[in-house]
Amino acid sequence: MPADLPRIRVGQGFDVHPFAADPDRPLVLGGLRFPGRGLAGHSDADPVAHAVTDALLGAAGLGDIGQHFPDTDPALAGADSIELLRRAVADVRRAGWEPQNVDCTVVLEAPKLAPRRDEMQRRLAEAVGAPVTVKGKRAEGLGALGRAEGIACLAVALVVAR
Ligand code: MG
Repeated sequence: MPADLPRIRVGQGFDVHPFAADPDRPLVLGGLRFPGRGLAGHSDADPVAHAVTDALLGAAGLGDIGQHFPDTDPALAGADSIELLRRAVADVRRAGWEPQNVDCTVVLEAPKLAPRRDEMQRRLAEAVGAPVTVKGKRAEGLGALGRAEGIACLAVALVVAR
């Protein structure tokens, strides 16, 4: 890492996926399976894992998730996004940064996250190697998210020089 860079950096991530037309597609949020129709996307379409990945990559100055894991790569079809997050964290560490914490806001009408929040936080934290906090937030009927046409997630990540 160049000596003139700061020792701590912050990164932001955002992701959104629409619900899939296929009623049998599994719903995956923060690495957990939920009942109900899943989200459309090339991988498992987990917007929480994707936003966390982008926040960490951004903090480390390593571009974005699309560069690392292109949605044109047949090998990534249906991919476990927690595994992609693990790979991104390894890249972050190789670039000289250690994740300190990540905080997420998941924007969704349903399902309710609170009953599984601790489990989700543990799953994400295990992949990141640092605490990850998750909050659920409804869009109060406004726009596509408020009409429950998809689920979005915002994340911020802090990294320090190793
Ligand atoms: Mg995504």
